[in-house]
Amino acid sequence: MRNLCLILGDQLNIDSALFDDFDPEADAVWMAEVDHETTHVPCHKQRVTFFLSAMRHFRDGQRAEGREVIYHELTADRRKDRGKTFGDVLRKTIKSEKPARVRVVEPGDERVRTEIASVCDDAGVELDVLRDTHFYCSIEEFRDWAGGKKVLILETFYRMMRKREGVLMADAKNPVDDRWNFDEDNRETFGKTGPDEEIKGPMSFSADDVTQGVLDLVEDRWGDHPGSLDKFALPVTRGDARKMLRYFIKTALPRFGTYEDAMWTGEAFVYHSRLSALLNIKLLNPRECVAAAIEAYEKRHATIANVEGFVRQLIGWREFIRGVYWLKMPEYAERNALAANRQMPSFFWDGETDMACVKHAMSHVIDHGYTHHIERLMVLGNLAMMYGADPYAFHEWHMAMYVDAIDWVSLPNTLGMSQYGDGGVVGTKPYCSTGKYVDRMSNYCKGCRYKPGKAVGDDACPFTTLYWDFLARNETKLKGNNRMALQLKNVVRKREKGELGEIRDQADTLRLSWAATPSAW
Ligand code: SF4
Repeated sequence: MRNLCLILGDQLNIDSALFDDFDPEADAVWMAEVDHETTHVPCHKQRVTFFLSAMRHFRDGQRAEGREVIYHELTADRRKDRGKTFGDVLRKTIKSEKPARVRVVEPGDERVRTEIASVCDDAGVELDVLRDTHFYCSIEEFRDWAGGKKVLILETFYRMMRKREGVLMADAKNPVDDRWNFDEDNRETFGKTGPDEEIKGPMSFSADDVTQGVLDLVEDRWGDHPGSLDKFALPVTRGDARKMLRYFIKTALPRFGTYEDAMWTGEAFVYHSRLSALLNIKLLNPRECVAAAIEAYEKRHATIANVEGFVRQLIGWREFIRGVYWLKMPEYAERNALAANRQMPSFFWDGETDMACVKHAMSHVIDHGYTHHIERLMVLGNLAMMYGADPYAFHEWHMAMYVDAIDWVSLPNTLGMSQYGDGGVVGTKPYCSTGKYVDRMSNYCKGCRYKPGKAVGDDACPFTTLYWDFLARNETKLKGNNRMALQLKNVVRKREKGELGEIRDQADTLRLSWAATPSAW
């Protein structure tokens, strides 16, 4: 064998650089399902189903193209596993197939990259790591852009990328509609009465025989894992992923940006695309998503504010955090700027809580392995940070529970943006707020036993109690941050009025009660 071409579960890209000079006579594709990837953190059953089913469909597609695929498939019988980790299975394949070279596209997880390199090194086989052309910006290009900068500013990167790629540009220097960023226009709520139309939600797909086989396997083998399979409806092939993209552009993009931050009971998706999982395993390419959104703008199907909000996620934020991940790893994973060290409370796994907003958000996690970004950032992430969760534990929880989480995308978004563990590399301040934010952006507080404006007492909102306690606890660490000045001034005012002691006592009691409930995982 000339080349053993590894395709990992998040690399289901038909345009992969691996295929550029693939010789069916001399090369083989290698794919492996391994137990370790589902159990090193106890993965949500939908996450496992999504990855395994998409991998099996991709394998079948490759075989139909006439390529040999060496595929390690898991069954309900653990004794048939050829190893626990990628490394174990790869080592055995190298021994039996004796390839002259192993080829892989840049993995999206530093741990996996190191593991593959170590196996090849031990076996004395050449390893060829190819650039991941799925992304607009290579790891090296990002490093060049970041070089010499004291602070990495997303907006600067985003504008550079818009110009470089000629996306939504009036000419070489100026954006269409004379504005780079329409974030200010994208903060609408549903008011008191709720959405003025029925929200269709993303397209859903029923299980074919391959997916049904995986659903049965997951219940057999990982039936005690978190999450439910009842509402599994994700596409697992490229053809269906493209259908989902077209459906989003037609039905949801015109309102996506406008209601990007809004939450409402019973609406897990609002107008969000739910394309992140498909992008992150490479069934979709960001360029086709950007092109489809721009076409919608040019045909006046969607306004610039809605289209720009969507494009910014893809060409700006997604590329930016991948760049940060590879620029800062592996030390980035160790960062813990606020020295937070608590494990995740049990309701982050099972949704058993009397906080209505958390219960709603967790029902979306359990039913879909998904919440949209405001429920991630301002409900679950905000609460975990103010509680004092270890930022890496929060990342591990997120990796386990969300179908779209891959290390490169999860770590900077959770440890960095959401938990402020990186001390301000990807976010300029901690995203903390009282229950009043949730009250403004949703109708969740209406059905809650707590009062969003109260910090003490039996009906005090835990978000509000923990908010003041969080700021008081971290006052010294956050003092130098200008963006926190107003919030910290209010802490001083509360202290002067003698209100802080009681709040902090209530926060202590709350934390103790959450920590006392053992987590199922
Ligand atoms: Fe959440 Fe507090 Fe509102 Fe209840 S009152 S829904 S806990 S923000």
